[in-house]
Amino acid sequence: MKEKLDAGSALAQSGLRNTRPRAAVLSLLEASAAPLSAEQVYLALREKGVAANLSTVYRAIEALCEKGLAAKLSIPGDPRAFFEFSRAAHRHYLICLGCREIRSLERCPLAGYEKALEQETDYRISGHKLVVYGYCPACRGGVSPAAREGAP
Ligand SMILES: [Zn+2]
Ligand SMILES: [Zn+2]
Repeated sequence: MKEKLDAGSALAQSGLRNTRPRAAVLSLLEASAAPLSAEQVYLALREKGVAANLSTVYRAIEALCEKGLAAKLSIPGDPRAFFEFSRAAHRHYLICLGCREIRSLERCPLAGYEKALEQETDYRISGHKLVVYGYCPACRGGVSPAAREGAP
């Protein structure tokens, strides 16, 4: 399996008909550093001049999720569903519950744990979900550790 599948070939391999909205939605998700809600996808497409209405966007996202090309992500306390491009190397996110900033984490902290769990349970682990959330420095109104260090 290739480490990184780009949006175009992922779509071709999935057997999904490569309609313009699907291709546009998928490459948008691929390019995005953070997961997007359907509405954010819709607005971003409009900005790019792709003619698609919200229900077309929803249907495109649904089809992409069904084929495993995109994945749904829910954020605690947020009624919206977010979507991300499914990569061979998955990502985890750190989410601020105040301003809803979503940062992607550099690495997966669970790789070693999965191996240990396989040995312990004899399962073949195929994946996991992990979302980390809290309040960013601005939202918690605190002094960041970096700033504190610089203080006299
Ligand atoms: Zn925040
Ligand atoms: Zn992980």
